[in-house]
Amino acid sequence: MIKTRFTEMFGIKHPIVQGGMQWVGRAELTSAVANAGALGFLTGLTQPTPDDLRKEIKRCREMTDQPFGVNLTILPTLVPRPYGEYIDAIIDSGIKIVETAGNNPKPFLPKMKEAGIKVIHKCTSVRHGVTAEKVGVDAISMDGFECAGHPGEDDVPNLVLLPAAANVIKIPMIASGGFADARGLVAALALGCEGINMGTRFMATKEAPIHQKVKEQIVASDERSTALILRTMRNTSRVYGNSVAKKAIEMEGEGKTIQEIGPIVAGAKGRVVYETGDMEHGIWSAGTCMGLINDIPTCKELVERIVAEAEQMIRGKLAKAIAA
Ligand code: NAD
Repeated sequence: MIKTRFTEMFGIKHPIVQGGMQWVGRAELTSAVANAGALGFLTGLTQPTPDDLRKEIKRCREMTDQPFGVNLTILPTLVPRPYGEYIDAIIDSGIKIVETAGNNPKPFLPKMKEAGIKVIHKCTSVRHGVTAEKVGVDAISMDGFECAGHPGEDDVPNLVLLPAAANVIKIPMIASGGFADARGLVAALALGCEGINMGTRFMATKEAPIHQKVKEQIVASDERSTALILRTMRNTSRVYGNSVAKKAIEMEGEGKTIQEIGPIVAGAKGRVVYETGDMEHGIWSAGTCMGLINDIPTCKELVERIVAEAEQMIRGKLAKAIAA
C-alpha cells in the first residue's frame, strides 16, 4: 500500500484518481474505480441538467459504497450551463468531494465548504495552483502539457511543472497529464506529488462506458496521435488527431471564429464517437499517454497493477541504486 496525505485526506486506499472526462465519467466507470480503492469522479456536465446529475449520483451510489466525487469544469461552452445549479445538485445529493477545473473556483467555494465538501482544483500552471491554495481549496491536481483536454496556454510539461509547483504549494498535490503506469506514479511521488490523476488510461478499461472501438484505437495509437485545437482562441484542447481535429485546425488557420468552428468541435458530436465507435464523427479527448497504453484491463486490475509495480520499483530497483 502506498499511503500519502492525499489518500488520508480523501479516505481512499490507493493514490490514484480518475479525473473528470466529458461523456466518459459516468456511474459505470466511477463506481468501478471507487470499488478498486481509487477515487473516481462523475463528470457534472456530462449530465444535461442538474436533475440528471442528481439521478446519476444516486445510480453511482447503488453501484458502490466507497467515496467518489463530482467534477465541475468551468470553461466556455457553446450552450451556457447553469454552474450554480449543478453545485446545488452536488450539495443536496450529499457529495463530499468535488474536482473543479477550468476557472478559479472561488465564487463556489463558500457554499461547498459550508456543506463540508473537500475541493480538489485542477489547474495547469503554478500561479493558478498558488491562487487556488490561497482561496481555500483542499488539494491541487496539477495538469501538465501532456494531458488530454485543456492543457492551458503555457505548454509546460510535468517534469518541470510538478516540482516547480511543489516548491511553493503546501497542500496535497496530485499529478495529472501523461500518467498511465507504475513508472508514472513513482515519478509523481519523486516530483513532489502525493498521487496521480489518470483520464485516457481509464478510458481503455473494461468498465469505461464507451464503444470498444475507442478503447482499441487508444491501444493502437501512440504518443504522437493527438492534436491541439482551439489554440487561436486561447482555449487549447488536446484531442485525438482525427480528420475532424485537422479540419478544425485548418479553419482556425483561416481565421474562423468559434461560431463557425463550433459545429465541428461540439461535444455533442464527440459523444456520438463514444456511443457508436464512428471515430471520425467528431472531436474526442485523448492524451499523449496513449503511447503507454497497451491493454484494456478492468479498473481493479489496472489500479492494483500500478500500485504493486510501483511498490516493487521503490523497494527493488530504486533502493538498490543507492551505492553501499
Ligand atoms: P461544447 O460542445 O460546449 O464546446 C466544444 C469545445 O469548444 C469545448 O472545448 C469548449 O471549451 C469550446 N468552446 C465553446 N465555446 C467557446 C468559446 N466561446 N470560446 C472558446 N472556446 C469555446 O463543450 P462540451 O464538449 O460539451 O464540454 C463541456 C465542457 O467540458 C466544456 O467546458 C469543455 O471544455 C469541458 N471539457 C473539459 C475537458 C477537460 O480536459 N477537463 C475535456 C472535455 C471537455
